[in-house]
Amino acid sequence: MGIAGAGKGTQSKLLTENFGFHYLSTGELLREYGTPEQHERMLAGEILDDQEIITMVDEFLLSLDDPNNLLLDGFPRTIPQVEWLLGQVQKGRISLDGVIHLAVSREVVEKRLLLRGRNDDTSEAISRRFDEYEAATLPILTYLKQHGVAIHDINADQEPATVNQDIIDSLSLSK
Ligand code: AMP
Repeated sequence: MGIAGAGKGTQSKLLTENFGFHYLSTGELLREYGTPEQHERMLAGEILDDQEIITMVDEFLLSLDDPNNLLLDGFPRTIPQVEWLLGQVQKGRISLDGVIHLAVSREVVEKRLLLRGRNDDTSEAISRRFDEYEAATLPILTYLKQHGVAIHDINADQEPATVNQDIIDSLSLSK
């Protein structure tokens, strides 16, 4: 989990390359296979319907021979999505080792996204997304913690290689 600019894509790529995880980014999947209506809502910065997202993740899990060793990027994003995921754990369908939370400061996000220079990455938009992210994410992290899920808080203000090493150390990953 992490706001746009925290480095989710970069870190997911490094982890997937080095540890061979199955990787699912709901945002990427939507950009590639979403309906025109879904694309419109994404462009407007809206969060998509929980049931649509859950169906996508469910189908992805069904497509795997082994649904473990999985890295989810951008999911869960809402409490109903968390509840569904924890339900899958309860059913024994998957096990959940933990959540990587890429915590990043407003200043660093702003610097990174302004460098990226996408047309929706204005200072005001970044600031708004930051407020929204904090409002939506902090309750999810609290909810997960209350349900016994390990949260790995990583200082994502650092350079990508350092962030990557901190994730590896925090999860005690070995090749
Ligand atoms: P991302 O690539 O993770 O930043 O996602 C891009 C966009 O896809 C988001 O702004 C949402 O509109 C949509 N999206 C991706 N994942 C989810 C999710 N788990 N729940 C709802 N909407 C999502």
